[in-house]
Amino acid sequence: MSTGIPINKDHLGIGMTSRRTRDRLIGRLTAKGIRNRKVLDIIRNTPRHIFVEEALASRAYEDTALPIGLGQTISQPYIVARMTEVLLEGGPLDTVLEVGTGSGYQTAVLAALANRVYSTERIEAFIKQARARFQELRLRNIRLRHSDGGLGLPQYAPFDGILVTAAPEGIPLALVAQLAVGGRMVLPIGTRDEQALVCVTRTEEGYDKQILERVSFVPLLGGIQ
Ligand code: SAH
Repeated sequence: MSTGIPINKDHLGIGMTSRRTRDRLIGRLTAKGIRNRKVLDIIRNTPRHIFVEEALASRAYEDTALPIGLGQTISQPYIVARMTEVLLEGGPLDTVLEVGTGSGYQTAVLAALANRVYSTERIEAFIKQARARFQELRLRNIRLRHSDGGLGLPQYAPFDGILVTAAPEGIPLALVAQLAVGGRMVLPIGTRDEQALVCVTRTEEGYDKQILERVSFVPLLGGIQ
């Protein structure tokens, strides 16, 4: 496990991607209620501008979702911080599954906290792009899979944590079944118009569900592309 991404000059950024710009983002996240120091430090040290196209790099440290092409978005930093914080409240994370790699930004944040991160994405172009970014950042504890993440990755289960970054309309039971007992899954649930962030904890008997706050994610789709 590493405690952050080894920083080189390009990753540190200049001007709109500088340390001061990043500190401002951390100030915003703290003001919005993010308390976990570890999560805040990782977000400060993760070069979000590497995960968006160059034309948007100057906006990478704004607390907003940004388009990443093919109708998808990189999640808002507040949401990344919140979901990661809730996942961590369940205890130490050895193995984590992410559904919806997209830009790879949330994956990189998880890779700084867990021993191993599996991430699945249904769009192959995103997998290729994310793989190149992780290589550049020397993140070696991430395994990417081009698959329908709604089915999980049973061959690598159980997971201490599962984080889903696209919204299904109900709890995917295949994913609950791949959680270790005591493990948690953090995910948006609902339609495009109305979604809530939910934390599902696997118990001996089944699962507990806790509704956290309103959110807005792209839908979880079936099949691969
Ligand atoms: N964590 C990403 C979020 C990208 S948006 C980021 O911050 O960049 C959500 C992603 O989920 C999209 O890339 C979309 O293609 C993917 N997705 C949607 N349904 C999926 C499924 N069933 N399996 C895997 N990925 C899926």
